[in-house]
This record gives sequence, C-alpha cells and structure tokens, in this order.
Amino acid sequence: MIYLDNNATTRIDPEVLEAMRPFQEQEYANPSSPYTFARKAALAVQSARGQVAALVGASAEEIHFTSGGTEANNAALNHLLATGGTTALALSCVEHASVRNYALHRRQDTLRVEQLGVDVRGNLLPGAPVVAAGQPLALMWANNETGVIFPVSEFTRDWRVHTDLVQAAGKLPVSLRFSGVETAALSAHKIHGPKGIGAIYVRAGVSFTPLLVGGDQEQGVRAGTENVAGIVGFGKAAELALRHLGRMGSEIRELRDGFEERVAREIPDLVVAGRAAPRLPNTSMLIVPGCETEALLALLDLQGICVSSGSACAAGANEPSHVLRAMGLPAGPGAATLRVSLSRFSTREELDSLSAALVPAVRRLRGAGARTS
Ligand code: PLP
Repeated sequence: MIYLDNNATTRIDPEVLEAMRPFQEQEYANPSSPYTFARKAALAVQSARGQVAALVGASAEEIHFTSGGTEANNAALNHLLATGGTTALALSCVEHASVRNYALHRRQDTLRVEQLGVDVRGNLLPGAPVVAAGQPLALMWANNETGVIFPVSEFTRDWRVHTDLVQAAGKLPVSLRFSGVETAALSAHKIHGPKGIGAIYVRAGVSFTPLLVGGDQEQGVRAGTENVAGIVGFGKAAELALRHLGRMGSEIRELRDGFEERVAREIPDLVVAGRAAPRLPNTSMLIVPGCETEALLALLDLQGICVSSGSACAAGANEPSHVLRAMGLPAGPGAATLRVSLSRFSTREELDSLSAALVPAVRRLRGAGARTS
C-alpha cells in the first residue's frame, strides 16, 4: 500500500504510541484528582501543553486541549461571536467545513457572514475584509486542499483573527507569539499523533467564552475530563514534528516538486492548483482535464495507492471542491482532481510508483472517453 493522503490523516508515529501506552494502562488516574496517583497524569498533561506550545511559538498557558480541530474551530468562532458588539464575521471562502459550516450555522438577522474571495492562484483578493475593523475574521494559515498559505498576521492589527492551523502546524515554522491572532485551532492526527485530540490557542489576556461548559478543566476554556493518553500522544507528536520541521521544508518539498515536474512533463495540460502561490511543502493538488475523478481514484486504488480528490470531509459528497471553484479552476465533470499529500515518512519510491501508475491511468481514461464520445 502506498499512502499519499496525509492531509486527511497520518499514520501514528511508533514513538507517539509508546509515549501514550502507560496512560492507557497503568496511569489511568483523572488528572484533577487530589491523590499522589494522579500526579503523573497531571504532570504529563502539563508537559504536553509545553510541547504543543513549542511547535507553534506560543506559551504553554495559551494551549487548551479539545477533541480535535473541528471542536477548536467551533469553540473559537463561538467565543468571537459571543463578544458584545459583534455584528459581522468575515471568513475566506476556502475555509475548512468546520469553520465555514459553523459560520453559516450561526448566521442570522443579527449576524452578517461575509466570505472573502481568492484569485486563480489561491491568494486572497486584494482589499480589506468587508467587515468593520474590530469584527472577527477567520483565515486559515494554510489550505487543506491546495496548501496555499495566507498572510494571516497582516490582518491582526485591525481585526480579531481566528486562524485554522490544522494543516500548517508541523509543516511550516509558525510563531503565534508575535502574530497577533486571538485564537487558533490545532489537531494531532495530521502530525502523526492520535485522532480525537486537538487544541485551541487562546492569546494570553483574552477572556474566553467557552463552548463546552462543565468542570473547570483546561483553565475553564474547555470542560470535560482530559483525554490524558491522547494529550500525551499529541505532545510527543508535536515534539517530533518540530524536530523534523527542517526536512519538511527541504527533502519533502523537493520530493513534491520533483513529482509535479515529472507528471507535468507527461501530462502537459495538467494544472497544479496554487503552484504560483506560497504553498505548504507537502501538498500537490492536480487537475487533470479529460477524465473523471472517481474513475482515476479507482484505478489508482486498484494498485494500492491512496490519494484523494480533496478534503476528506467532502469526500463522498460528490461535489466539486469549493476551493477550486472559488479559484475559478475547472473542477467538476470533465476534469479529475487529485490531491497528493506527503508526510515526513514519504519516499521517492512511493512518488515514483504514483507517477508510474498515474500517467497510464490518465491515458487509459482519456482513450476510453474519446471512444465513447
Ligand atoms: N481544519 C482543517 C484545515 C483540516 O484539514 C481539518 C481536518 O481535515 C480540520 C480542521 C478538522 O480537524 P479534526 O479532524 O481534528 O476535527
């Protein structure tokens, strides 16, 4: 099996699993309990908080664990909308479903939701966000489908910014410390950590309105008994991601670029979405005219190659990608979309196998299309 769908999820690093194990087996205490037995769990949660903070240039006190990136995005928007005086929310039109659908779900007579467009490269259209200064703005740090990076810090002087860091963390150097963002969302399973654990960054000094209310775990930002093993795994995954960050920007970027050059030589009308914009080093979104996405994915799947058409959250919905549509690219019937996303474990051999399978698959589907038309 060749797995090249790492923006959907990643395989857990064996070191992460090893770090988690004692907290599933012997150290099962509730970290809020008062006895000595619970001290190890409480200390492990604190240590993981520091490891996650280090990955994104934040202080440990600014990191609060959640059940994942979706909850962190929902909680951040809920907080921003709860502030008196909030009458509008702006977001880019290419945000992940956990931002976009939450914003649309909260839209009502008293809350205007404005979407900011992107150009054909995937960059934000020039001009100020259409909501008044001081209103909230949700802008992802990097896009999950194309990898295109937004200049989030440019907006934090005038707007209250939430950023979805789920895809950027561990793939790019990120420093929230001087970014000015108010909140940010993180997820462990995109960086070789376990699923079902994430975090919300809340800038020091911000009075946060929680989404989940109950006990006062996580400094009152997120109620509920902590998923200690998951948190420990997230911490370890963050530590390892930070250690390997340099390789992402060099070796993994070179592998991705080499792959794109090879397939573009063989398929000259292929489009690489976002290629002309600043982009994550691991992501390649290909548009292949003259064939259908499902047929192409199925041919690759038959050869044991796992790639996707775009966001895992939209897979199965069978709708053209809202990201590619927003960029004005041909996504839909008559053009296949293929997202290839690498991890630090990806190898040249895997990408060679993908190119070797992809080029004949495209020729075969185009031949079949020509015969039936
Ligand atoms: N934000 C982005 C950009 C994502 O790619 C994802 C996952 O696909 C999420 C948020 C949701 O994260 P989680 O799967 O941890 O809920």
